[in-house]
Amino acid sequence: MRRFQQLIDGQFEDGAASFESIDPATGEAWALMPRAQAADVERAVGAAHRALSDKAWRGLTATQRGKLLYRLADLVAEHAQDLALLETTDTGKIIRETSAQIAYVAEYYRYFAGLADKLQGAHLPIDKPDMEVWLRREPIGVVAAVVPWNSQLFLSAVKLGPALAAGCTVVLKASEDGPAPLLEFARLVQQAGFPAGVVNVITGFGPDCGQVLTSHPLVSRIAFTGGPGTARHVMRNAAENLAHVTLELGGKSPVVVFEDADLDSTANAVVAGIFAATGQSCVAGSRLIVQRSARDRLLGILKAKAEAIVIGAPQDRATEMGPLATQRQLSHIEEVVKASLASGAKLVTGGSAPSGSGFYYRPTILDCSGTEAAAVSTELFGPVLAVLDFETEAEAVRLANATPYGLASGVFTSNLSRAHRMTRDIRAGVVWINTYRAVSPMAPFGGFGLSGSGREGGLESILDYTRTKTVWLRTSDDPIPDPFVMR
Ligand code: NDP
Repeated sequence: MRRFQQLIDGQFEDGAASFESIDPATGEAWALMPRAQAADVERAVGAAHRALSDKAWRGLTATQRGKLLYRLADLVAEHAQDLALLETTDTGKIIRETSAQIAYVAEYYRYFAGLADKLQGAHLPIDKPDMEVWLRREPIGVVAAVVPWNSQLFLSAVKLGPALAAGCTVVLKASEDGPAPLLEFARLVQQAGFPAGVVNVITGFGPDCGQVLTSHPLVSRIAFTGGPGTARHVMRNAAENLAHVTLELGGKSPVVVFEDADLDSTANAVVAGIFAATGQSCVAGSRLIVQRSARDRLLGILKAKAEAIVIGAPQDRATEMGPLATQRQLSHIEEVVKASLASGAKLVTGGSAPSGSGFYYRPTILDCSGTEAAAVSTELFGPVLAVLDFETEAEAVRLANATPYGLASGVFTSNLSRAHRMTRDIRAGVVWINTYRAVSPMAPFGGFGLSGSGREGGLESILDYTRTKTVWLRTSDDPIPDPFVMR
């Protein structure tokens, strides 16, 4: 079995405890992972805190920090295939997707590398003639970055990129499910030349690792991606130390299709939204809201496309849909589909696991119109599309917004005015018009409501890793006047 190590204070180590990681395509253990305990977390945070004021990091110019990030980006690009294979083996995500996604992760590091020396303070115009006042922009401190198992390299790049560009130090916690690519990535961080303690990469279970990390009083900033339940714990932990928090959480994203859309092209976007990554995507377009007049035609196209999807080994380049990441995920999906059928949803296609080993589930479409099916409201994180229909635009908006989540959304129409109206009316952090599942380092990403708060990506996201210090300098040589009056 392959053995991975964690990175603490510039040293790779096995950790006092370990656990077996499961290959979801076979259900068999394939690697041993370090299982960080409270003492490991303590050492990692301590190292990050020391590194923050150590000259080896603090003494670097912003341009030098940027250069380290460029080097890291080049290393990620160079090793993209190896990292992709590890992510595919450890999470079951297909190699076609992991190799393209990880090559693109390098672009995120490049984007933030370029921003490192564009961060500026300010000189303030002030209403007192004998004062100069300016703002210094400084790193916020030690960052705890916590990511879930899907797209771990991608989700950590939007945290580490801005954090390191701003001069922070980081303890990155990989998920217990599929941590291999992040532990391997830690080796590239070392190779890039970041000083010891600036980036620490650990993995372990929620209660004895994530909980301890997000409760630590030396952590100033928590960047969390995961589910709303865990996010509540994280928020409570942060409250104790008044740490700054951003939360990227789940979704139940609507894809609204009007009768005037190009249905063949739209069907490809719907498939991308729900069946890519086996539906294990925070932006999964899991609710199709289609105008009644276009419903049967679109469902016909989708059924044919879903049934033609090639299910297979994730390492095989011909495979279009791999297994779910865990048995837990598979069981959850089976339960919700069963309950939805019992509450009146009609099965259009799928609804079962193919024969054989591994955590596979068929691409599934449920017609949920007029029902209270659980598949309409529960985030499944799997390849299950719940279909609803509507008559009027107002009804489409009502259905789209009938969720406590608000992460992503898609609108398909050839009517430009309607596209603009929908953009205003839909309650979600991202609106894709006539496209779906597009991302870029330049575009902020994040949600409303149960989908979290804060934005990752884009220029402003780096400001979240800084704090300002206001400096007052008195320029008069006269003695300080009346000390009992506020200046
Ligand atoms: P979880 O919330 O269960 O886990 C997320 C991370 O938090 C994991 O590393 C987990 O560790 C850790 N964790 C668990 N308990 C605690 C705790 N008490 N304190 C601190 N950290 C803890 O999410 P899932 O792994 O189930 O991931 C799926 C969820 O992530 C979905 O809801 C999905 O929508 C969301 N997501 C959101 C994205 C976005 O950008 N908005 C992107 C991708 C996913 P461990 O694994 O060891 O339990």
